Amino acid sequence: MALVKCSECGSDVSDLAKSCPKCGAPVAVEAPKKRASGCTVAILVGVGIFILALIFSSGRTPSDTQTASSTGSSATSSTSGNPAHAGLLALSMTERNATLAKLMQSSGERCRSVTRSMYQGQDADNNAYWSLACANRREYQVMIRADASGSTRYLDCAAVKALIGRSECWKAF
Ligand SMILES: [Zn+2]
Repeated sequence: MALVKCSECGSDVSDLAKSCPKCGAPVAVEAPKKRASGCTVAILVGVGIFILALIFSSGRTPSDTQTASSTGSSATSSTSGNPAHAGLLALSMTERNATLAKLMQSSGERCRSVTRSMYQGQDADNNAYWSLACANRREYQVMIRADASGSTRYLDCAAVKALIGRSECWKAF
């Protein structure tokens, strides 16, 4: 509770009082402004989508992925131009999961072992997408780039889902 000056007579009035006890003038107290929390959330989601677009700025569009899946039925064409992905595909499931676990560990993720992995498909630039689940139940989508070193990028499936309400993990292109 605080005291404010009455605008009419100048006497001290509690800011909780509706009117001045001396002259009866209404006490004008500024209502605390409501924070526009909904607006803040919308901005955060917008920023998140922008970051996602930056991460996957490989020009992947629905028409591109359709082309990739329609031509990617045979093993030769689905791995063309992406040696790192081809190598991963040639491994046994056990070896592949071990390789993916090492990849996540080297990226700083706590992934003791990979319990499940799935090849999703390739985009028009021959970048390959894999979904994987770690022993601690964290799930990631890994992009293996079609460059000489087979550099990788990854997304946390849960984080993406929390951000935009859905994730592309575990979906074949
Ligand atoms: Zn007054």
